[in-house]
Amino acid sequence: MLVRLMYASRTAPALDQDALHAILRQCKENNPALGITGLLCHCSTSGIFMQVLEGGRSAVNGLYLKIAADARHTDVELMDYAEINERRFAGWAMGQINMSRLNPGLLLKYSATPVLDPYSVSGKVSLAMFDELVATASIMGDRG
Ligand code: FAD
Repeated sequence: MLVRLMYASRTAPALDQDALHAILRQCKENNPALGITGLLCHCSTSGIFMQVLEGGRSAVNGLYLKIAADARHTDVELMDYAEINERRFAGWAMGQINMSRLNPGLLLKYSATPVLDPYSVSGKVSLAMFDELVATASIMGDRG
């Protein structure tokens, strides 16, 4: 039983580059053993995280509960959750989307302003936008 979960959150005010690297280190250390793959998108200008987690239902649900309780972000909101037949991001223990290479026109395609704000659009729109972010922005991080 595979599922895909996507959520959005706001970064804690004190979150700096070191804290971001610490989170990515935890992803890299923990996710392979949990069988979890996915992508983490961080936008420093809007202070937003978006993350997609794919894997077994129990593993994804358990990790999501842990992540949701993490003080390094707030306003954690589930955007989309679905049973899936196959993974989209099987190659990534946790790839990181490079927001600095993002075309603002892509954000305008999906929202009223060229600002990343997943709270103002539906989960399905967020997922479509996320797919396009993956296709147009480069993904960093180790392949799982
Ligand atoms: P412990 O290290 O025992 O953590 C205990 C508590 O401290 C937890 O509440 C934890 O949230 C918090 N904590 C841990 N390290 C720090 C730190 N450096 N600074 C501040 N608080 C800390 N973890 C994954 O394994 N996979 C992921 O894909 C993943 N994605 C994340 C995405 C985001 C946006 C954030 C904010 C966190 C993510 N994490 C991820 C980290 C996750 O929330 C847990 O901290 C991590 O899984 C370790 O939890 P633990 O309880 O086993 O470890």
